[in-house]
Order: sequence, then C-alpha cells, then structure tokens
Amino acid sequence: MKGTIEDVQVRAYRIPTDDPEADGTYRWDSTTLVVVHCRAGGTAGLGYSYADAAAATLVKDKLAGKVLGRSAFNIPGCWFAMAGSVRNLGEQGIAMLAISAVDTALWDLKAKLVGLPLVDLLGGVRDRVPVYGSGGFTSYTIEQLQHQLAGWVEEGIIRVKMKIGTQPDKDPERIARARAAIGSAQLFVDANGAYDRKQALAMAEIFNDYQVSWFEEPVVHHDLEGLRLIRDRAPATMEISAGEYGFELDYFRRMAEAEAVDVLQADATRCGITGFLQAANLCQAFHLPLSSHCAPALHLHPCCAASAVRHMEYFHDHVRIERMLFDGVVVPVAGELAPDRSRPGLGIELKEDVAKRYEI
Ligand SMILES: [Mg+2]
Repeated sequence: MKGTIEDVQVRAYRIPTDDPEADGTYRWDSTTLVVVHCRAGGTAGLGYSYADAAAATLVKDKLAGKVLGRSAFNIPGCWFAMAGSVRNLGEQGIAMLAISAVDTALWDLKAKLVGLPLVDLLGGVRDRVPVYGSGGFTSYTIEQLQHQLAGWVEEGIIRVKMKIGTQPDKDPERIARARAAIGSAQLFVDANGAYDRKQALAMAEIFNDYQVSWFEEPVVHHDLEGLRLIRDRAPATMEISAGEYGFELDYFRRMAEAEAVDVLQADATRCGITGFLQAANLCQAFHLPLSSHCAPALHLHPCCAASAVRHMEYFHDHVRIERMLFDGVVVPVAGELAPDRSRPGLGIELKEDVAKRYEI
C-alpha cells in the first residue's frame, strides 16, 4: 500500500527559558517539547507538542502501534485508532497532547508524500496571517515588559499581549506602563483565569482606561457562565477570549453554545491539526473568529487554510524554541507570517544536532 506508515520515532527535549516566566496562575523556567517523526516510503513527517515527557512515553508504548501499517493518506483512520486506544486513560490531557504530536506528523508526512506545502494540501484561503506578540510575563520587571512589547511594535507587530493576575493590585500600573511603551498599538491582556467574576468585571472597567481590546481568560476557563457574564458586561471595545485548553471538539462546542467568548482560541499541540480544523469549522457555524494559541510554526499552514482564523499568537517562549530547534521557521514581515511554499509539509525540520543538547 502506498504511504504505509513504517516507523514512528519520538523524543522529548527540555529547553530552559531565557528568563523565569510566570502568568496569573503558573510559573515555569523550562519548556518540554515532544517531537514525533512518522516515516512512509522513505519520507519523514514531523510533528510536535509542548507537553511533558509522559506524552513521549505514550507515543512510544501505545500510539505508535496504532498507526504503524496504516496509510499516511488516511489521517482520520489513524486519529480514531489513536483516540480509541486512550479511552481508559482519559481522552484529554497527556493522551491528547501525545495524539496531537502524531497527528501533526501525519499531516506533515501526507503533504510531503504528495509534494505540497501543507496549506495547499488543505486548501488555502489566505497567503499570510497577522500575528500578535505575546509574552509580558508577570515575572518581568516593568522595564523588561516595556522593552519586549515595544520591540514587537517596532518590528511592525501592531498587537501585543501581556500576562496579568499574579498580583491583581499591581495590574493597573503594569498595564498603564505597557500602554505608555506601545503608543497606539492594540493591547491584549491574559489573566489565565486568575480573577473571580466580580474582580474581573471591575478590572475590565479599569483596563478600558488604557484601551485594552482583548481580555483573555478573565476567569477560569471552565466557568462558562462567568465568561459569559464578563463578555456581556465588559465594554463593547473589549473582546473576551478563551479556548486554549480545548482538547476535543465537544469542549469548543460547549464554549460556543454558552456564548462565552467573542473570539475562540484553539491550540493544535493539544487538539491536533485535525481538531484545530474541526474547531475552525465550528467557529464558522457560530460566526466566531478563531485565534491560534502558541506554537506559531505549527499553526501557520492550518491558519492559512481556515477561513475563521483572525490571527495567530506569536508567543515569546515558543518563538525562541522554534527558531533554535527547527530549520525553515519563517519570521513576521509587517506583522504577518507567510508560509514558505517552496518547502513541502509544514516547511520545518528538526535541527538534530542542536536538539540533542536538550534531550531528556
Ligand atoms: Mg492564554
């Protein structure tokens, strides 16, 4: 059979951050990247997830056996075989992070087997996607925060996002200083669920004085009624967003049905490229814009192929890792990313020699 999957390899890498990073509910000083290669007919497809080494174990011990011998052209068949195999482990979390890495490797492989960039295999609706610069960690000093956000604006990225919520009483001052550094650029904030409902409503009023136009996860993402409350009561110029923890289509459907967000977010390192495209179709049916979360090198091609997409997150930590560890990563021009259509698949390859230093 043409395109038979003959080999699945997985490696995990831990890459230290350049500075300690924190948001409203989490702190970290390293990021774990799980990389999968699926091979068919002498061609290797690359996929990855920002996950935990446990996801690599799951790929090796369980998922590889579910896709070996199948056709790389039949990704849905591989998807359902993998999803079925993790029923007793829970179909979210680590299991879906692992499935997502394999799913992406299969999309890359299929596109390479037919000699097309992934965007053209999927069918493009646009040639480039606007990005927003994302970082502004709560562990940063005011000077670091201003320098990072202003740096993106100087590069032509006219939307920037900062973290809030670690010390709520300090947030208005940090936001004021960020606004002072970026002039008239769009200012997004992400609380990562750190506020309660009334606190978030009060903060939205304060943030409005600094023209904050995007308030992400004002309350914990499970609280769909809370998100809906903030969405209904926040200033009309401030959009509410969430969705980055969506592992499967039902999660996105519930968020859309609850009218919880103005813009849905989805992360293909958690729901696979397959799940990301499903989320994009769902968004179209609900008249919701979609924004990709993190991992810009992975999202670029699917974002060019999904009409619901508004923009992509250009996340500091992942931008740095993807430039360090992958060949073929494109950089924004005038605030937009465009796929390199001279390269098949996702257009990126692992720099094995560099990656080896971080293997765990
Ligand atoms: Mg977020």
